[in-house]
Amino acid sequence: MKPLALFGGTFDPVHLGHLSVAWEAAELLDAEVRLLPAHVPPHKPPPLADAEQRVAMLHAALQKQDRLAVDTRELRRSGPSYTYDTLCELRAELGARPLVLLLGVDAFAGLPSWHRWRELFEVAHLGVLSRPGVEPELPHTLWAEIEARRTGDVAELHARPAGRVIELAVTPLEISATRIRELLAAGRDPRYLLPCGLFEDPALLAPYRKA
Ligand code: ATP
Repeated sequence: MKPLALFGGTFDPVHLGHLSVAWEAAELLDAEVRLLPAHVPPHKPPPLADAEQRVAMLHAALQKQDRLAVDTRELRRSGPSYTYDTLCELRAELGARPLVLLLGVDAFAGLPSWHRWRELFEVAHLGVLSRPGVEPELPHTLWAEIEARRTGDVAELHARPAGRVIELAVTPLEISATRIRELLAAGRDPRYLLPCGLFEDPALLAPYRKA
């Protein structure tokens, strides 16, 4: 059974950096990948686009392909969305099907501040995506937890439901939503940093443009 991989984020807005790494992760892991927009990111300022607008952008971005999908379950919950709770919910639905949480290396370095982070490995594997310009020092507690879990072999992730950590060397694309918000606020047109579907309806990028 193909693993299900989740790629969580604010997606404020979704950009080609997200889509490209999610796509390559799907290929490298031979997995179904779902983008999982977060309702209230516990560690970030609130998004400029509301939940509905971010989902509309994700749908516009994911047209004409069937490898990547959107999963809006965290947005249907009120209050902060803990990844651990989401993974437990999915684990209950999936039975023994492998589940992989995909994280950029910047997000991975911050893992020890997450709710019940050590228990994440009981419900999912972790796929760590390289990100250009970001080579964070991993905290000692994180190293200690992942040392025995690291593998370079995708087959190990297919063979069990959870518990392994794999690094995925994806093509580096130095694109961030922060930069895109800055460009749009300055009246610029970051056409080739964003999926073309986001330009089809002017309302989609309106939350980022200055009136
Ligand atoms: P912001 O600039 O607002 O912080 P972001 O571009 O980092 O946003 P998020 O929605 O916060 O996007 O990121 C969701 C996930 O995508 C995180 O795990 C992050 O590490 C990863 N990610 C975002 N952009 C890239 C990229 N260009 N390459 C690899 N991973 C990325």
